Amino acid sequence: MDNCVFCKITSKQSPAEILMESDDVVVFKDIYPSAPVHYLVVSKKHIPSIKEVLHEDEVLMGHLIHMARDAAEKLGLNGYKLVFNVGKEGGQIVDHIHLHLLGGWAKNKANTVNV
Ligand code: AMP
Ligand code: ZN
Repeated sequence: MDNCVFCKITSKQSPAEILMESDDVVVFKDIYPSAPVHYLVVSKKHIPSIKEVLHEDEVLMGHLIHMARDAAEKLGLNGYKLVFNVGKEGGQIVDHIHLHLLGGWAKNKANTVNV
């Protein structure tokens, strides 16, 4: 989609620090990290948010979660958070569906995070 920052990254028109990629999903580093380890798991298909997910996108959404899990394993994270911000009131700034992968805190330390 024109003028969508994440469409530009997933189609390689804009740079990003890519960790992993499949046919449908790209995992790249968040430029303004909210945790010691902060990656974004992003579908190549432009879906604005969770609100617009269709029945036909269910396999893609499952794949998004699997990619997040595989990225966490690759990064050596034992525990982590996966967060979807949904809509402006939910803190969503980029209107292209993405799952935040957050981790890297000290072991046994309670943590809270806003993304
Ligand atoms: P959200 O608030 O859920 O829409 O999250 C958007 C995230 O995208 C924020 O954590 C930003 O730091 C991140 N972000 C925005 N632009 C870029 C970019 N060009 N490359 C990497 N991350 C980005
Ligand atoms: Zn997009």
